Amino acid sequence: MRFQTAEPFRIKMIEHVKKTTFEQRAEWLKEAQYNVFRVKAENVYIDCLTDSGTSAMSKNQWAALMMGDESYASCDSFFRLEQSVHQTYGMPLVQPVHQGRAADYLLAKIYTQPGKIAIGNMHFDTFRGNAEVLGALVEDLVFDEGKDAASPASPFKGNMDIAKCEKLIAEKGIDQISVIILTVTCNNNGGQPVSMQNIKDVAALARNHNIPFVMDIARIAENAYFIKTREDGYYDVDIVDIVKEQLSYCETAVMSAKKDGLVNIGGLFLTRNQHIFAKANQLAIVHEGFITYGGLAGRDMDALAVGIKEACDFDYLQYRVGQVEYLGNQLKEKGIPIIEPPGGHGIYVDARRFFPHIPQHDFPAQRLVVALYQESGIRAVELGACAFGGKDPITGEATWPQLETMRIAISRRVYTNDHLDCIVNALDYIYQNRDSYKGLKLVFEGPIVSLRHFTAGFELL
Ligand SMILES: *Cc1c(COP(=O)(O)O)cnc(C)c1O
Repeated sequence: MRFQTAEPFRIKMIEHVKKTTFEQRAEWLKEAQYNVFRVKAENVYIDCLTDSGTSAMSKNQWAALMMGDESYASCDSFFRLEQSVHQTYGMPLVQPVHQGRAADYLLAKIYTQPGKIAIGNMHFDTFRGNAEVLGALVEDLVFDEGKDAASPASPFKGNMDIAKCEKLIAEKGIDQISVIILTVTCNNNGGQPVSMQNIKDVAALARNHNIPFVMDIARIAENAYFIKTREDGYYDVDIVDIVKEQLSYCETAVMSAKKDGLVNIGGLFLTRNQHIFAKANQLAIVHEGFITYGGLAGRDMDALAVGIKEACDFDYLQYRVGQVEYLGNQLKEKGIPIIEPPGGHGIYVDARRFFPHIPQHDFPAQRLVVALYQESGIRAVELGACAFGGKDPITGEATWPQLETMRIAISRRVYTNDHLDCIVNALDYIYQNRDSYKGLKLVFEGPIVSLRHFTAGFELL
């Protein structure tokens, strides 16, 4: 188009949000032990806790919902979902599950073994938690720059470091490695993309060593957009073809459909391998539901069948990724330190640079999350000392992650740029007054350390 364009949709229905006072929020934070997962959503003005299951559905998805066929075995809805997966992802064997972590469970059960290592660029916490419960070991082998929130901008910070991977395999021995998993985009380090070249290189490495290669494709369409706009040779290739090419290199893929499926619930376990499919079917029957619904209602599968396709629309992706970039650029203008360049689904504020006077064991990123909610009613999430820190599985000693960030996740098709401006204003205010904030003390954590951030409790220092 000749002129600047706006959202590629009109708003058909709205949801009211509540404005609250500073004093009310102080009370609610105290009740929630300074963990915003425990703050009631109705008391949140702009919710950037997650982009998971928070998308606005289109009228075509709502219409599809009414088509849902609620039968147990071999319902029409499943076949529509299967066809959409075939057409968009090109993966032949489709096991629906109720959400991404259920697919992670199947993946961990089928592809990991106790004491053996699952290699990833950066494993997402629900896979990590499932693997940990089953006694498997995990390694994150993203490039060093991907683990450093202050590293200069570069186009594919989600890439796996192939040399590190080869070194680990040589050191530990091939029989100690169970699986290699690439997460695209890489959620934990900023929604940073993985290049097609890196996907090919990882696939080749896995093939050479006879290690199964799996992809976590929660944000496969956003990753395709980055490949199209940043990687040589892809500018003229359609998003759907880039999506299919990415998947063509893996044996199996797991997906939280709550991201690039543009639905509020759902997940997929996809494979090319009949033998793996049979195992996934068995586990799904025990844990999820029959093989043609996997814990989903027919209507959920119909909404997903449509959402998978809508997420691969170029205009949608340009708006989507552009909106996240808009927020990143506004924050940068205020001098607020973020992971650069902005990723696909949110902005990650670097709490090390934001609150340099708060040591990591006093949870600077969590402190920032608390400050943002307290000042403005805006809810973000910590991805730092609480979410990624833990205990060494062998020595039991506390471990502290390199990344100490606050993620501002942007829901798909939900907020306007005016909402994003509110976030900028609130963070600008906190940044100007940053010296007045002290850290937090962790006073409660659950038994699975890699999942402690969901239920942890804190006190203000
Ligand atoms: C959200 C997410 C999951 C888990 O999915 P749920 O649907 O929340 O259970 C797994 N992997 C990645 C990369 C995710 O972003």
